[in-house]
Amino acid sequence: MSADPRRQVPRTDSLLADPRLVAAADRLGRDLVKVAVREVQQRVRQGEVVPGDAVAAVVAALPGTASSLRPVLNATGVLVHTNLGRAPLSAAAVEAVAAAAGTTDVELDLGTGRRGPRGVGALAALLEAVPAAGAALVVNNCAAALALVATALGGELVIARGELVEIGDGFRIPELLEATGARLREVGTTNRVALDDYLGALTGSTGAVLKVHPSNFVVRGFTRAVPVAELARALAGRGVPLVADVGSGLLRPHPVLPDEPDLQSTLADGADLVLASGDKLLGGPQAGLVLGRADLVQRLRRHPLYRALRVDKTTLAALEATLRGPLPPVGEMLAADAAGLHRRAEALAARLSAAGVDAVAVGSRARVGGGGAPEQPLPSAAVSLPAGFAEPLRRGTPPVVGHVAGDRTLLDLRSLPPTADDCLAAAVLAAAR
Ligand SMILES: *Cc1c(COP(=O)(O)O)cnc(C)c1O
Repeated sequence: MSADPRRQVPRTDSLLADPRLVAAADRLGRDLVKVAVREVQQRVRQGEVVPGDAVAAVVAALPGTASSLRPVLNATGVLVHTNLGRAPLSAAAVEAVAAAAGTTDVELDLGTGRRGPRGVGALAALLEAVPAAGAALVVNNCAAALALVATALGGELVIARGELVEIGDGFRIPELLEATGARLREVGTTNRVALDDYLGALTGSTGAVLKVHPSNFVVRGFTRAVPVAELARALAGRGVPLVADVGSGLLRPHPVLPDEPDLQSTLADGADLVLASGDKLLGGPQAGLVLGRADLVQRLRRHPLYRALRVDKTTLAALEATLRGPLPPVGEMLAADAAGLHRRAEALAARLSAAGVDAVAVGSRARVGGGGAPEQPLPSAAVSLPAGFAEPLRRGTPPVVGHVAGDRTLLDLRSLPPTADDCLAAAVLAAAR
């Protein structure tokens, strides 16, 4: 045996021939396995791994999937966290995505063998969930729905100054609308708008009146907005469609979020079209939902831009399963009662304390997030740890994202399903080591 440990570094081809790594290459692709092999060879060279453990070390270093996106435990207390992929899909939606991911009958009528309308199941589920709608259309996201409406209805869009909203990360709805070539006719002031402001702005070139839900802020004091119902009554018979962007995608009123508009009520109030996101409070995949008058929906569907904005089969599958399946995780999180969350926090804190971790259960305030119900704190409970835990938790496997408040890291339990508690405890213990 040579004294030089480099001589003992197992060769790439002999490592790749090991049955465990052949299987890994079948699953993940040879390139990803080779990257892990090179890392482990380097560690053998440095004396960190003994040559006989090289294959096991490669297996341990392999990524879970061939994508670099990793599952993360969301302990931020923000239920719909845009940086963490917004709504987690339900198990039913995940199964539906897997089933539709191969070749599927998204646009084929298997009965006749002819081409069929695209995504009919998802559209039917939407119409059943929102009976006030005559027709529905699904596009890439709510921004796409706004762009399609502005392009296809065109002309001048009448909108209140108080509803020229920035949603997040520099995404400003008025800039998106203007990028389509539509002209904005702003009415009212930042804090107040009256029905007459809208009516006085209508001209022969008005394409639509647009209401945008100010999802992520509230204006208080000397304020006035015109409700959809009032606007709809005044616009009746004038031939100008009223389009309402409700943002967060509640299908119906939700008892926990009394101030959040919903699709069914907004249509019942007289809006001609409503727009919403699929991955906020609806709890489904990223999508833009357009529901309302059948003739207007048909105009949008026929517009050439629709083709550039339509969704794929996996989105249609996830959306239909979200609508027809069991309550998705976001619905469960909204419904969770505070006492149950406190019991989970106490149990976790007791487990962690028993292992020597400085962990206590505390009350906390969760939020809807994702631009929804900004003023509605949701009573919650958290496991409070020293602030130094934040980074090792974020870098762990699986990564855990909490929220740092002063000198403590809070792991809020409302944004995590109870089934994740064991995994959360294991992650904290690993971070403590
Ligand atoms: C979130 C939101 C949007 C943007 O939705 P995406 O689905 O992210 O494109 C548009 N309008 C309102 C009112 C929103 O709350």
